Formats: sequence, C-alpha cells, structure tokens
Amino acid sequence: MDIMKLLPAGKDYLWGGTRLREEFGKNIKMTPLAETWECSVHPDGPSIVANGKYAGMTLAEVLDEHQEFLGSKVEPGENGRKELPVLVKLIDAKRDLSVQVHPDDRYAREHEGQNGKTEMWYILDAAEDASLIYGFIHPVSGGLLRSAIQEGTLDKHLQKIKVNKGEVYYVPAGMVHGIGAGTLVAEIQENSNVTYRVYDYDRVDKNGKKRALHFDKAVEVMDMGIAPDVSSQHRFVRYYPGGSRETLCRCRYFVTERVQLTHGFAFSVLEESFQILLCLDGEGGIEAEGRNPVRFRKGDCLFLPAGLGRCYVIGETELLKVRC
Ligand code: ZN
Repeated sequence: MDIMKLLPAGKDYLWGGTRLREEFGKNIKMTPLAETWECSVHPDGPSIVANGKYAGMTLAEVLDEHQEFLGSKVEPGENGRKELPVLVKLIDAKRDLSVQVHPDDRYAREHEGQNGKTEMWYILDAAEDASLIYGFIHPVSGGLLRSAIQEGTLDKHLQKIKVNKGEVYYVPAGMVHGIGAGTLVAEIQENSNVTYRVYDYDRVDKNGKKRALHFDKAVEVMDMGIAPDVSSQHRFVRYYPGGSRETLCRCRYFVTERVQLTHGFAFSVLEESFQILLCLDGEGGIEAEGRNPVRFRKGDCLFLPAGLGRCYVIGETELLKVRC
C-alpha cells in the first residue's frame, strides 16, 4: 500500500483555455485544455498511476484489484464491486460553459447506466467580471422553460452570481448551473459524466457543429424552485501552529477540506475511507509510516489508500483533501 501520484486525463472542450498547462504544469498537448480529470476511475477519462508498484496502471485497475483501498464506507454497486465514488477535476473556463443540469442517482442509473452528479466548486481564480449561473431567481415550470429557451430569454430566470477567488459552491443534482468565463475551478463530484445541456450560446465546435442539447431530459430532472441564497458563506477556519484547516463541503457523497500549510500537519487515513490530496499552490512532501515519501507541487494529485495510517505533510502549500 503506497501513496499514489496520479496523471490526469485531459479534455479539449471548446470553452477551455491554456492555464492548466501554463499555471498548473499539466503536460497534456491539447488546445484548448478545458479540464483535467485528476482523480478519476471513469472510463471517459481515467487517471494513471505515476509512481511505485502500480506505475502505468489506471487507478481503476488498481482499485479493482485492491478493493480495500477504497475503505469500508464505500458501498458495493449492483455488481457487488466497489468503485471510487468521486471524481476530482480542474476546470479552466476561458469562455462560458453551457447552461446545464445533472440528474440524480435514481434517474441517471435508470436512463444512463451511470451515477447522478452532485458537484462542488472551489474557485481557484476569477476574472474581475466573472460570474456563474446558480439556479433560478423565481420558480419556473417546464412550459415556461421551453418557451424561454425557444425565445432565447432563459437569462431572465437564472440567478447570476459574481464569483470571487476562494468561494465554494455546492451544486446538487437537479440544479441548473453554468460556470462563467474567466473562472478557474477545482470540482469535486460524483463519479459520473452525465450532463444535460439546456443552452449552449449557439456555439459551434471545431467541426463547425452545434453541440447537442438535451432539453426534454433536462426538464425531467430539473429543480424548478428558487435557488438557495449564497450571498453570505459561513466559513469556519481552524488555525493551529503550522497551518489551518477548513471544511468546505460535507455532503452524502464526499467531504472536502481546504488545508493551508506554512510548515506542516499530521492526519490519519483510516480504514473507513481513501483520501485524495490535490495541491493548489506551493509544494511539499508527504510521508506515511513505513512508506516511500512522495514530493508534490502545484497541480499534483495524490491518492491515499484507506488504512494508510498516520501521514505527515510538510511544506508551504495549499491542498484540497477529499474523502467519503
Ligand atoms: Zn455541471
């Protein structure tokens, strides 16, 4: 059982930029480079192990062989096998993403053979005028949405929020949303790749084709009520010698913490869950008793198997720490 450094899969979606290569050291020759799937067992973008005994294998293969690395809290699926329930991404939105919605587990499993998608965004950077779409400003109906989309007036019903670096947004399945141009995001989500596009700004892709919209399914899964108020984010940061920790999001699918280190900190990876570390800034090293130490820097993602035990991180760095 070792700490695994991961190599991501890249996505060249039309709205992406080049910052993941330029600022996060991603060695992926795609332009644009819209997303990197940093910790993923999804067949649409699997992560590869970069170091140690499992180097060259996909994370999915390793976890299929070593189900115990996932931990006791991860429930087996219908086939009796456990799989990683989360997917961690970096997203560089040079242009607006489509206005979209994701189904919940029940709908997605029935119609798409995948999990649903609840997601969380941690804003890594935002341009002066950057905004995002977060639910509706008043209750809507399927009929109203249909005509609004046909008439191009969907905007009138959507909540548009100015977005700032360091903010956190929780996006449950069913909430209409869109990441806006000029935003760099770390996304933690369920292990799923089901997106129903509602509106795509009439854009065409590199082949001159408009991307498909999925209006009927979107309306079926969409929450038509008013979006929650996010004008004040209640945040609780715990400071201690060597750094600070803050829980950004706790939902039934994952717990995400932000860890900011000036020196170092110690934590335990218990039998109940794996942990994922994503380095957002600076650099450092991690050591677990009896294991090979691993160095990391901005942009690196590490998978820590469940039961790894006591770990020590040193460095001047900012990390996201994800478990289930
Ligand atoms: Zn989404």
